[in-house]
Parts: sequence; structure tokens; C-alpha cells
Amino acid sequence: MTTVLDKKQKIKESLKKTKEKRENQIPKVYQLKISYSNLNKQQKTWLKRVFLEAKWLYNYTVADIQNRLNSKTEKLKQVEVKTPQGYEKRQITCLSSQMKQGILDRIKKNLFDLSKAKQKGIKVGKLKFKSDYRNIPLKQNEITFKVLKDKNKIKLQGLKKPVRVLGLHQLPENCDIAKAELIKKPDGCYIHLTCYIDKQNEKQKQEKINKPIGIDFGIKHQLTLSNGIKINYSVEETKRLKKLQKKLSRQQKGSRNYQKTKQKIQKQHQKIYNRRKDIKNKILSLLKRYEYVLIQEEQIKNWHSGLFGKQIQNTGIGGIISMLKQNIETLIPVNKYEATTKMCSRCGNRKEDITLSDRTYKCNNCGLVIDRDLNSAINILKIGLQKVEKTTIKNLPTDCGEVTPVEKEATARVFKDNPYIRVSYTSTKQEARLFSKP
Ligand SMILES: [Zn+2]
Repeated sequence: MTTVLDKKQKIKESLKKTKEKRENQIPKVYQLKISYSNLNKQQKTWLKRVFLEAKWLYNYTVADIQNRLNSKTEKLKQVEVKTPQGYEKRQITCLSSQMKQGILDRIKKNLFDLSKAKQKGIKVGKLKFKSDYRNIPLKQNEITFKVLKDKNKIKLQGLKKPVRVLGLHQLPENCDIAKAELIKKPDGCYIHLTCYIDKQNEKQKQEKINKPIGIDFGIKHQLTLSNGIKINYSVEETKRLKKLQKKLSRQQKGSRNYQKTKQKIQKQHQKIYNRRKDIKNKILSLLKRYEYVLIQEEQIKNWHSGLFGKQIQNTGIGGIISMLKQNIETLIPVNKYEATTKMCSRCGNRKEDITLSDRTYKCNNCGLVIDRDLNSAINILKIGLQKVEKTTIKNLPTDCGEVTPVEKEATARVFKDNPYIRVSYTSTKQEARLFSKP
């Protein structure tokens, strides 16, 4: 007797604890796609069958709710199915009892909603049979499913081997995985994962960085920020695309195979486009946090015609600038004739003989040795701020050349999921120290 009470007490306590925890959390649903090409034969059959069995069980229960909506049905190994030839028995082999329970719980919930609507005087019908069941509840984490984040896989109850899924990288580090749903769509199977995230965490993610930032757009490191962050990214044309283009040129125009290859090429272009778009969005989401963003806008144009034209196309810098213009209200452009590369960002001395291949700026006057792009970015920041500081910007910290831990963390968080972006840091202090001799 006491043990049962103890157990009940324990469950009660843990429910209370969860409730308290949830008050500081928000739920978020992540969509994961099951990678069909990585499924083995057994898994493919299972995925087909499990939705079929869910439909059978649902219709079986709905046909006689009074006698069938109970825990006995959760244990059934076979159900009757109505066919044009009469009733037939069907085996339930894929649905686990927790899945069955989930399906029955849903029926209960639907009935409850119906009766509530009825009470309000709304005319309601009965639960209908389904011709397709596309959404199987996976109620308990670690039981009906288990996320193997490092392996990009999810173990489903009833399947020996875990299935590979796409999209797990979206999950934040410290989140509570609560429940999931197995979903069938025209283009494949998905898992919708419901997680609970700390409100605090979510807030921090959006937090503003209360300072202005200057950006130098370059070739070697595509973006250098005045705090020393270098963002390097490139999505090149894939080898497959080049191959396909070659193939297309050999095929007869308008032929069936020609069309096929053309479609494949379009798919590749879409892929590259998506990758670039994602990069741009991530860069934008980082820069949006800054109070002001300063750029020298015409800087790029002169390069287009020259040697670097092709490289610039690959990185799509032009696209980034126009996106910044559209999305950042506090974008401050610096005149293109300002000699931001020639000027020393510490003492203002001008150096005429600096060329594009000089990666380091060495000042003959004050002795500053600094990454060339960082020097420009700081100059852009300083010149731009001079222009507006007196009227609009007040008391903003303009410390440059040093990236703060907050900025570092924000950068890491924004870019961590994208394999085409590399982030590095350069600092004024370090390099200056290296140079100054007693
Ligand atoms: Zn100097």
C-alpha cells in the first residue's frame, strides 16, 4: 500500500517540478526530415506500415468508441478493418503501445473538444473515419523516441537502428526535449520535435550590442569588423554543377535527356542560392544587433571589372551591401573617396604606397602594425561616427580592435551551424605589442 502511495507522491512532485520549470521556458517546435536515402529496407517498410496501422487503430476505435476507447485497445495486437469484402483482421506490429496510447489520447481530446462545443450550443457531428493517418504522436522522450544529436539520428521505438535526420543542428544546446510527432508528407517523412527553451536564453539571443561597428569588405576575408572579427565565407559552384554543364553542352538541345540535365542544373543552382541566402541572413542577424553599422559603400565597385571580379561574384558581397541597406535602419555610409586603407587608424598619418597585396598596415609615424582590413574597418567607424556623432549618437562606446566576450559568443551562436562561414579574430593590441620596441 505504502509503495503505491509513495509512487503517486513521487509522480506528483516531479510533475510539480516540471511545471515550475516550464514557467521560465517557452516551447518551440523543430522540423526534422528523415533522410530517405539513408534508410534501409526494413526502415522503409516500417515507415509505410506504421501510418497504415495508425489508421486501422484509429478507425477501429472510432467505430465503437464506447467499448473500444480504453486501455485494453492499447494492448491489441490485431484489429478488425472494414473492407469491401467485409471485416478482416489486421496485425499491429509496428505501433508500440505508447504510440497506440497517444492515438487514443487524441481521440479522447477530440471528443472532449466536441462536447465542449456542444455545451456552447454549437452543432457538432461525430468523429469521422480517416482515409489516411499522417501524424503519429510520440509522447515520451527517451521511450518512443530518442535524439542522438551527435550522430544526427533519432531512434524510434520499434526500429532496431536509428534513422538519420536533417535539421538537428537547429536545436539549442540546453533545451528540454519534450515530445515529438512522426509526420507523413508528400515529399517524405518528418519528425516534429517539441522542445522547451529557457526564456532567458531566448532573450539573450536577441540582445542588442550597445555600440557601433565598422565593416571593411575585402577579398581575402570578406568582412572585417572594427572589433577584429573576420567573417570569411564562400559558396563556390559545385563540381557536380560544372559536370552537368559540360554534359548539357554535349546533349542535343530540346531532347529529353537535355531537359533532364537542365532540371538537375536548376536544382544545383537552387542549392547554391539557398546556401548563399543563409549566409547573408546569418551575417545580417549578427550585424542587426549593433547600434549602428558603418560601411564604405562604393568600395567594391572598382574591383568588379578587375582581377577579382570572379571571386566577388562567388561571395556575393554586392548582395550583402544592398541587403544591409534594406534591413538596417541605422546604416551609416562613408564617402567612397575617404582613404580608409591609406590612413593609420591610430594617429591619422597617411601612407600612399600601400597596395592591395599588403596584408598588414605598418605606420611609419606611430609604429602601429595592424591587419590591413582591420585598420580600414576602424577608419570607417571613426570617419562615419565623426559625421553623425554630434547630432544623433551619444555616449556610445567606440572601443575598437578588441572583441568582447559577448560579441564573441553572439558570433559563435549565429554562425555555428553554417559550414561555409569561417570566423577568426584579429586584434590591434597583440600586433601593436609585437612591433613596439623599447
Ligand atoms: Zn600611426
